[in-house]
Amino acid sequence: MSEGAVKKEEKPRKFQAIRGTRDLLPPETALWTRVEQTAHEVFATFGFGEIRPPVFEPTDLFARAVGGETDIVSKEMYTFVDRSEKLEPQPSIGSMDVFLEQVKRLSKSGELPQDEIDLELVEKQWKKVDGLLQGISKIEAGSTEIYTLIMLFEALRLGGDVSLRPEATASVCRAYIEHNMQQLPQPVKLYYMGPMFRRERPQKGRYRQFYQIGAEILGGPDAPAIDAELIEMLMTFFGKLGLEGTTLDINSIGHAADNCRRGYVRKLKAELEKVKDKLGADSQRRIETNPLRVLDSKLEHEQAIVEQLPRIADNLCDDCKMHYAAVKRELALRDVAYRENWRLVRGLDYYMRTTFEITARGLGSQNAVCGGGRYDGLVQLLGGPPTKGIGFAIGEDRLILSLEESGKVPAAPGPDVYIAWMGQNAYATAIRAARALRNAGLRVELPATELKFGKALERASKLGSRFALILGDNEVADGQWTLKTLRDGSQQKLTEPALLEYLLKP
Ligand code: AMP
Repeated sequence: MSEGAVKKEEKPRKFQAIRGTRDLLPPETALWTRVEQTAHEVFATFGFGEIRPPVFEPTDLFARAVGGETDIVSKEMYTFVDRSEKLEPQPSIGSMDVFLEQVKRLSKSGELPQDEIDLELVEKQWKKVDGLLQGISKIEAGSTEIYTLIMLFEALRLGGDVSLRPEATASVCRAYIEHNMQQLPQPVKLYYMGPMFRRERPQKGRYRQFYQIGAEILGGPDAPAIDAELIEMLMTFFGKLGLEGTTLDINSIGHAADNCRRGYVRKLKAELEKVKDKLGADSQRRIETNPLRVLDSKLEHEQAIVEQLPRIADNLCDDCKMHYAAVKRELALRDVAYRENWRLVRGLDYYMRTTFEITARGLGSQNAVCGGGRYDGLVQLLGGPPTKGIGFAIGEDRLILSLEESGKVPAAPGPDVYIAWMGQNAYATAIRAARALRNAGLRVELPATELKFGKALERASKLGSRFALILGDNEVADGQWTLKTLRDGSQQKLTEPALLEYLLKP
């Protein structure tokens, strides 16, 4: 069989969106737009400005901010080497010398995150392999040496380590520091929206590319009114969208000191040790790695045990206790209904005091639509000045799912006017009419090829158009255009200005 014949039989591969990612399509995207538009409007009324950070950042930023021990950083990030553009694409054995020279130069000038040791090893190994290649008969003996060279070469870092962002708080803090925002009037109030990436097991309401809308307040005091106003903004936003069945859970996790959270964690750990045998494997491991996370447990048989554990509210220092009481007072002043949930925790040291979560209806097991909390130590941890901080992140996919479950989907709007034209004279007029109507803000459908009137009207109905504008030779000659109301089939003749006036009538 000739090569051509083989090619003919090969079917081109059909591509599909990668597992855990999906296309958002009309009409659903209209709901996404409404949600995002509402966020822009509501957040602006609270004095927030929009920030659009990049979707990839140095891996270290997330390791530092989110925590190297977390699932997110240890197994869920999409990480890759951002190969330096100053290196040749892929070195062949013949050009290895030149390539290694390039790597050496770039790592010396600091453009590659190379440490000398790796490079020296590769060079040494390359010399060995090169020597073996000179005497071709020894190639057999050299195969392990070549293998070693490949392994060493793969360990070479040919660019910076970057990751797709799994969340955006780290980026916002990085930007606050990078742009010296501490010199602006404090606090700085920022919000963002966009895709995040985590390699989680996909299920309803959980994706690998998902979308968050979040806000952060950085700098200024840690006044409880700031926490309460941020939560008020969130609830106002959900209220404007008509999100149903929301519950706001709040808690205070104190701060990392012996007379506060650290002391509590010690006490918790001691109690957990006593009941270790009755816990599942995950919780057993967490006694060592992150005892607070045991409180998160959803396992049926662990619930009764968790209920008996010491509670953080009874172990807060006086300052944190007062702060928590004041946050609750401030929420009440704003008519924000909340539920105290002592099991709501965050695992990282710089999270402190206020934490909150909002759940909504119709989402099954993945029912958290928003999580947030205070993180006064984070900016400093990323190399900035001591700075107070608090923020939240809403899962937009879940928010949309919940709105859809409760029937809050805007109907997909059909065209306002479908222009049924016949004849070349009418076509020129139709183009002009379409432009005038669109300029006036109407949705107009202009068929690209000539259709018989009957066919055109059929299409107009199928698209759900409100009106059909009929333009034939007669209409163009008389300057009297025919407008058909598709709902009742009635027709009227109108001049161009009268038509515009009629269609723009509220
Ligand atoms: P987090 O950044 O983990 O605090 O999450 C904040 C919110 O983002 C959660 O309450 C969810 O609504 C949403 N979220 C987190 N991970 C995912 C995911 N993989 N898919 C969809 N939504 C998510």
